[in-house]
Amino acid sequence: TWSAVPAGPPDPILGITEAFKADKDARKINLGVGAYRDENGKPYVLNAVKKAEEFLTAAKNDKEYLPITGLADFTKNAAKLAYGAESKPLNENAIAITQSISGTGALRIGGAFLARHYPHSKIIYLPVPSWGNHTPIFKDSGLEVRGYRYFDKKTVGLDFNGLKEDLQNAPEGAIVLLHACAHNPTGVDPTQAQWAQISDIVKEKKLFPFFDMAYQGFASGSTTRDAFAVRHFVQEGHQIALSQSFAKNMGLYGERVGAFSLTTTNAEEKARVESQLKIIVRPMYSNPPLHGARIANTILSRPELYQEWEGEVLTMAERIISMREKLYDSLTKEHSTPGEWGHIKSQIGMFSFTGLKAEHCKALAEKAHVYMTMDGRISMAGLNGNNIEYFAQSVDAAVRG
Ligand code: PMP
Repeated sequence: TWSAVPAGPPDPILGITEAFKADKDARKINLGVGAYRDENGKPYVLNAVKKAEEFLTAAKNDKEYLPITGLADFTKNAAKLAYGAESKPLNENAIAITQSISGTGALRIGGAFLARHYPHSKIIYLPVPSWGNHTPIFKDSGLEVRGYRYFDKKTVGLDFNGLKEDLQNAPEGAIVLLHACAHNPTGVDPTQAQWAQISDIVKEKKLFPFFDMAYQGFASGSTTRDAFAVRHFVQEGHQIALSQSFAKNMGLYGERVGAFSLTTTNAEEKARVESQLKIIVRPMYSNPPLHGARIANTILSRPELYQEWEGEVLTMAERIISMREKLYDSLTKEHSTPGEWGHIKSQIGMFSFTGLKAEHCKALAEKAHVYMTMDGRISMAGLNGNNIEYFAQSVDAAVRG
């Protein structure tokens, strides 16, 4: 029956983890996967999460099914976190929202909803490059995927003119995917002034903004600052779609906690939209998992845990920022490595697009046991006080050839 099924290619990022695991060298470093590591290179369970789990154990909750759209308190608090307590659609009960299987599930529900109900276009524009899973997610949702210029290889920064031109030339009504903060894979975000200009173009061309917010708090250390783009667009009167993930900012990766929302005109419209979100979710997975949503909700709803969580988000963000500074200093001051490295410090969030070419990345894996994606992206969180010097030295050697 399956003789004609061709073998598919391995996932490029998970393949790196395999190669890393097989490597027996003690100096090996995995900079492929986008998961936070502490200063000892270990996965990190947040204290706020541990405390929330203690509350949940003590509460002796049952394990009944959640409703189709998930834990209502969780989605209410997730919306407040993203849109802000002052948000107009939030306070007018005009945000349609459903819990989702983390950010990926949110994007998939959003893609399916837009493919089915968005009346103006079936085309979604993604930044080039974007997170590798965006294209298959939106194709599988039934949308046509196109790209808008985002990254300038020459400056290792934002191609803002290219971005503006491509959005201006997009067909009226097209959907545009925007990384709310900490763009993956480039680590390059628009400034607040640039966001304001993007908002104007989106308005003028009647594009539909779909925000992917997988890293709220991870970029700057402040969940409020990282929500700037989302909140600015809403304030400017845009209706938006939003995907939220709690994988990174709460370290709840495998618990799969997220939310998908749409701002609507009023409570009546919200109810209609939400009824259609249910119709999309029900045949896909019926209802979402319970435990992670309870953890996130406990943190979001208990002031002392919320405060502790905010502190931990800041600690994670600051550790990454300090690694950026150390790496920059080591390459430029200690090794005088050929090339320009300022972008390592100016880039934002979990990743840095180093500008290293595929041949350098290959040499780093083969000669130095350092693993990363062939586009030169490194997860800054994989670096720490014990391995950063070895990494800088290895990059220097790879660049010199
Ligand atoms: N969007 C972006 C830009 C991401 O980087 C990721 C995680 N790598 C996600 C969405 C989704 O992740 P998750 O499904 O684990 O929340």
